[in-house]
Amino acid sequence: MSYIEPAPIKDKENPFESMMSRFQVAAEHLGLNAQIYNVLKTPTKQVIVGLPVTMDNGKIEVFEGYRVIHSNILGPSKGGIRYALDVNLDEMKALAAWMTWKCAVVDIPFGGAKGGIKCDPRSMSAGEIERLTRAYTMALQEIFGPDRDIPAPDMGTGPREMAWLMDQFSRSNGMTINAVVTGKPTVLGGSLGRTEATGRGVMVSTLVAMEKLQLNPFKATCAIQGFGNVGSWAARLLDERGVKIISLSDISGAYYNKNGINIDEAMRYRDANNGTLEGFSEAEKIPTDELLLLEVDVLVPAAVEDVITIHNAHNIKAKLIVEGANGPTSAKADKILNDLGILSVPDILANAGGVTVSYFEWVQNRLGYKWTAERVNRRSDRIMKDAFNNVYETSVKYNVSLRIAAYIVAIDKVAKTYEYRGGF
Ligand code: NAD
Repeated sequence: MSYIEPAPIKDKENPFESMMSRFQVAAEHLGLNAQIYNVLKTPTKQVIVGLPVTMDNGKIEVFEGYRVIHSNILGPSKGGIRYALDVNLDEMKALAAWMTWKCAVVDIPFGGAKGGIKCDPRSMSAGEIERLTRAYTMALQEIFGPDRDIPAPDMGTGPREMAWLMDQFSRSNGMTINAVVTGKPTVLGGSLGRTEATGRGVMVSTLVAMEKLQLNPFKATCAIQGFGNVGSWAARLLDERGVKIISLSDISGAYYNKNGINIDEAMRYRDANNGTLEGFSEAEKIPTDELLLLEVDVLVPAAVEDVITIHNAHNIKAKLIVEGANGPTSAKADKILNDLGILSVPDILANAGGVTVSYFEWVQNRLGYKWTAERVNRRSDRIMKDAFNNVYETSVKYNVSLRIAAYIVAIDKVAKTYEYRGGF
């Protein structure tokens, strides 16, 4: 096969502005009251903390930590914690607002938040990360709480960090409070089904969208960017339902096999190979950015933000894009995809399976009871299908894209709640 030269794909838009431009369009369609608009665009709380931590070399280093609560009008705020060097307040504000919209789209009783620490976890020892996580928890112990603000893992954090956070919060309060955080190890009250929940939601959204487009899963092909938690579970679950995954990529490059990639084998290979597909010989290596431009029915960006931009959107050939990642499509690329007639299932809908099962984790912790994986999956599938259909009907009603429709559904719910509660 031949490939055209890959276009430069990075077109970093300010994430907060990118979120706001969609928000604005949806608000106009809704005829949103200007005062409520001002309330919704302003985060409820933005906290920046300094975190002194003793490093393994005995020196004290000070890290900067953030927690932004965009809204807690629907319930306690919910959102992940990111450890990365490029963490900044604008990014936190955008991600926190996305969480508000995401929870509202799937109709769960949470508001939106996001947190992070500017650090490079890959260059730190487990002990340093533990001390940093505990310092962050102590600095924010007035903010966090099962009825106030409930963190979860995000980039650079996982069940291990959530266990430390839960332990530190519990110690400070003199009792075990596992509902303060989700995404915990199952032995600490983590939910069955949480690991695969986001990929599973992507799979459900893909199948429902394929039905709308009258695409037969057993005849469809799919390319998935990112082979981490979201991408690999989406790949495995779609594959199990007949969709042929012909291309995968991760930080090591992109891999192509026109006969379909054996996903179980790719996952085994990755797990035995430091988490990457580097050297995976069951598929041909292709230029990384080409994955997005392949002739496939379904494209699932499930890695990083801003990968579909004005530079490459024109060349996308997929009929359906399902956003596993947060913010993979820049606001400016939306129009190009719409004009091309490509159906995009937006992030705040497509990847909401994760927060849905986080909500189930919180419910189980509060009940002091454990659900079976079957119950978790059945309930999250139903929520994802209902949310998709609601967004789809809204897109028909307002004659807008699924993305704007998802914002309309979410903003309408949050705005109505503010209007009923009042108290300004
Ligand atoms: P992860 O760290 O498990 O995996 C990320 C994958 O992307 C890895 O395979 C990595 O190698 C790959 N990658 C990184 N840069 C890449 C690039 N430039 N090109 C191709 N591949 C690249 O992360 P994850 O949890 O799977 O999250 C992926 C995305 O999904 C993020 O945007 C995240 O915010 C979003 N998301 C995750 C969840 C969740 O529950 N994990 C929920 C909602 C949204």
